[in-house]
Amino acid sequence: MNMHSERFERVRSRIKAACEAAGRNVAEVELIAVSKLHSAAAVRSLYSLGQRAFGENRLQEALAKQRELTDLDISWHFIGPVQSNKTREIAGHFDWVQSLDRLKVINRLSRQRPEGMPPLNVCLQVNIDGEPQKAGAAPGDVWALAESAAGAPRLCLRGLMCIPRLTDDEDRLRRSFARMRELFLKLRADGFNLDTLSMGMSADLEIAVAEGSTMVRVGTDLFGPRGA
Ligand SMILES: *Cc1c(COP(=O)(O)O)cnc(C)c1O
Repeated sequence: MNMHSERFERVRSRIKAACEAAGRNVAEVELIAVSKLHSAAAVRSLYSLGQRAFGENRLQEALAKQRELTDLDISWHFIGPVQSNKTREIAGHFDWVQSLDRLKVINRLSRQRPEGMPPLNVCLQVNIDGEPQKAGAAPGDVWALAESAAGAPRLCLRGLMCIPRLTDDEDRLRRSFARMRELFLKLRADGFNLDTLSMGMSADLEIAVAEGSTMVRVGTDLFGPRGA
């Protein structure tokens, strides 16, 4: 018995139930397995159950895991802060970058994406609750960044990502997710061809799905606590 099968099934049935409650098709919500601080063996185990998309937030850790998993057909998502001196390696080793929030990084990733690879899928990270220490662009800066990312030759702008303020207050979370959806729909109405609204983690994926998420990023509830 695979050690991850119970957790995997539980998370998938939560997503399914959340979609049903929201009157949405389960195919509209993709699950990204956030494997940060978990081993390559854990990734392999989840892969064997059918999971294909994995998220990592630290470059060196991700590269080490990738070297052990070259035989697997994984879609790798970079979801952590992007330092500009790391863009070359990120551009060459990931399928998606969900955490873009600066023009400089947009330009570097586009310039450095290797010719032999398809355009890099990207999301703009939005600091939706305006938290001073948190990564992400201010909502008002998203248009200018979206123009740049959409025009970058080696990037494919897919959508928006957020990590809302840590809180137990469900109404507050719901309002943050709802503001993300409004932003997403406004950008689409302005002609940006976006299909991805990446929001929702272990603790709040139901609320995110109810508010229109198309991609949930789950770590703890798939792999167990980190550093345990
Ligand atoms: C760690 C992380 C997650 C997963 O969080 P869990 O609460 O463990 O599900 C999702 N998104 C980002 C950007 C993360 O860094």
